[in-house]
Amino acid sequence: MSQSNHFVLALDIGGTHFRLALADQKGQLLRQCKGHSSPENGPEQAIERIKDAATEMLSGLEPGSVRGMGIAVAGLITPATGVLLTSPNLLSWYNTPLKEIFEKELQLPVWVGNDANLAALGEHRFGAGIGCDDLIYITVSTGIGGGVITGGKLLTGSSGFAAELGHMTIDLNGPRCNCGNVGCLEAMASGTAIARLTLEKLSCGEASVITDLVAGDLTKVTARVVGEAASSGDAVARAVMHTAATNLGVGIVNLVHIFNPELVIIGGGVSQSGELLFDPVRQVVAERTIPDYTVRIVPATLGDDCGLLGAVALVAGEYF
Ligand SMILES: [Zn+2]
Repeated sequence: MSQSNHFVLALDIGGTHFRLALADQKGQLLRQCKGHSSPENGPEQAIERIKDAATEMLSGLEPGSVRGMGIAVAGLITPATGVLLTSPNLLSWYNTPLKEIFEKELQLPVWVGNDANLAALGEHRFGAGIGCDDLIYITVSTGIGGGVITGGKLLTGSSGFAAELGHMTIDLNGPRCNCGNVGCLEAMASGTAIARLTLEKLSCGEASVITDLVAGDLTKVTARVVGEAASSGDAVARAVMHTAATNLGVGIVNLVHIFNPELVIIGGGVSQSGELLFDPVRQVVAERTIPDYTVRIVPATLGDDCGLLGAVALVAGEYF
């Protein structure tokens, strides 16, 4: 078999670490490494580490055997120029021309995408969305992000900023969101929102096993702890999960009516809560969606590899 353009270099840059992988176009991660992204020091040191790791990873490969590099990063990216404009996790990386830097350093074509947009591509090509060309991916973790694939193409919008699904308004008078607006889906259904809703209930004196799980230190209340408590039957935790899942369901109803997807894929840490999340979401969608619409709502399957595999899909696929 010809090795021409067979491999893809994939990079996922997070708020604390980066992951780099050499993959084939079937999504097999053949070589992998990890390093600190150290955002407190600006981008230069991390970029140097990534460049060195990439050079080592590419050593021994035939010239022309690598199709290109895909980069997944949280934040707003200009697709054509591959400039990272702003990132919530990497504040000091604003206006970093990632495409230009790595094309020059590695002598490969480079594509850069928002990590949640790319996770949508990863699930489409390698995960829960195989064979489905109209899908929406939503990641629910600390924040909420997503990607929309319609007719097999990624929706980018006029500036490349489309599908900031976490910032659709769910409640005109809702809680303040990190984006500055109020009542965003992210402020009402994310892991951060789950922790906040739980603290509100505990501060009202409601009894819960959560207090024991964090040994009385309420600063340690996270969505993961609330999920554990809910799984064990704790009433406060179950009520909070139900509220967050209902809010998420309302957001999905809006998306279903706008985009008419066949499939909605939910990923991110909070999706690990399983039926505690999915049952109320499916119920709300069934109750509130115009009956002629049909949509399946399923968990993501790529887990922590969604960014890397999304970067592979970005390079290997035809999404624009
Ligand atoms: Zn917002």
